[in-house]
Amino acid sequence: MTAPSRPPSVDTLARSLSASGLPHPILVDIARAAIDAGDVESAPARADAFRRTLLTPVVNATGVLLHTNLGRAPLAHHQDAAAQTVEFDLASGQRGSRQAAVGQLFARLCGAEAAMVVNNNASAVLLVVAALAAGRDVPVSRGESVEIGGSFRVPEVLQQSGARLVDVGTTNRTRLADYATAIDRSDVDAAIVLKVHPSNYRVEGFVEDTSVADLATLDVPVVADIGSGLIDAHCPWLPGAPPAWLAGEPAAVQTLADGADLVTFSGDKLLGGPQAGIIVGRADLVDPCLRHPLARALRPGGLVLGALQQTALTYLDRRVVADIPFWKMVATPLADLRTRADDIVTAVVDRHPTARVEPSEALPGAGSAPGVTMPSVAVVVDGDVLEPLRRHSPPVIARSRDQRTALDMRAVDPSEDRVVIDALLGPR
Ligand SMILES: *Cc1c(COP(=O)(O)O)cnc(C)c1O
Repeated sequence: MTAPSRPPSVDTLARSLSASGLPHPILVDIARAAIDAGDVESAPARADAFRRTLLTPVVNATGVLLHTNLGRAPLAHHQDAAAQTVEFDLASGQRGSRQAAVGQLFARLCGAEAAMVVNNNASAVLLVVAALAAGRDVPVSRGESVEIGGSFRVPEVLQQSGARLVDVGTTNRTRLADYATAIDRSDVDAAIVLKVHPSNYRVEGFVEDTSVADLATLDVPVVADIGSGLIDAHCPWLPGAPPAWLAGEPAAVQTLADGADLVTFSGDKLLGGPQAGIIVGRADLVDPCLRHPLARALRPGGLVLGALQQTALTYLDRRVVADIPFWKMVATPLADLRTRADDIVTAVVDRHPTARVEPSEALPGAGSAPGVTMPSVAVVVDGDVLEPLRRHSPPVIARSRDQRTALDMRAVDPSEDRVVIDALLGPR
């Protein structure tokens, strides 16, 4: 009988994990936890588990193009470690506005007088209502008093802004006369009318809402939260007609042309840019937003401003399909997806004899265009192989149902096909 060997020192164990690439202080924590648990052998697995908690690029084979859990719109943006004119006016050599560069581009893109950007669309709505309606009333249709994505709830945003919500109409039908009656009430001091696009659900049947064009006939400014960030309903950047699944999705250009005084939308939904909120419309309404104290708290940094500027220039240059990954995914012909899926099946069929190509339906995602799909194809294999796919480096995120796993090709870049093949083949 030999005496049980003494556990290694924390430092020795931590050093033995250095191939994980994790920083030494983290490895020390992991080594200590393994020793404390009396399970030294588990240290490598603990290091691996930690590494998998870090932000990691993945292949999105879910068929949900703007996957909220996967960061919505993917976007490549490179920036040198150089000083940047974030708040510097090159013409005068004086301090400039952080909002000027990107603001003028989004105003031009949407056909409006002015624009500004904040961290996300929730911030945009909060800032607009705080700047234009704090201490006053904001009529909102009962059908648009919605919750979007868990924590964006219109009544709560209004409450945080210091404005008072005035319920208008009914859950399923709200007419122009309902707004007019609310505005005319002697106890109501309406600052703006807020119209919210109920992005992530659809009410069908006996429903009616009031158009922006009708709301524009009222005596108070109309703010439209369109959410998705579709710039132009005609999608002039696409080779053909706008895809059918976009019908019914409000667009910035048309909403402003219909008479909205301000429009707000997200940067990382159908726009295809970085996470941001864009406020665009009348200069005399954007101005109080720029000057409000919350604007400072909600302002984006230079990285996001740079990515937004690049996105706006891409639209103005009509390079959208080539340079904005979301629109590239949308515009890829079905035949191309099928060819690539066939090649993947050929490459993995020895390992997965039942691998096959099946028609699939992809979703825009991020709460855009609920209930609609776009045609796609998937590589399908028998069994639930989600876990091994996630374990691959880089991980591949797919979907499984009824003991079959489907890898939808529409959100997979052609440069990632090799990764999909390797992940399906598994460790050799
Ligand atoms: C998505 C959405 C929001 C929230 O936007 P974030 O950019 O996620 O903050 C607000 N309003 C509408 C209508 C939306 O669709």
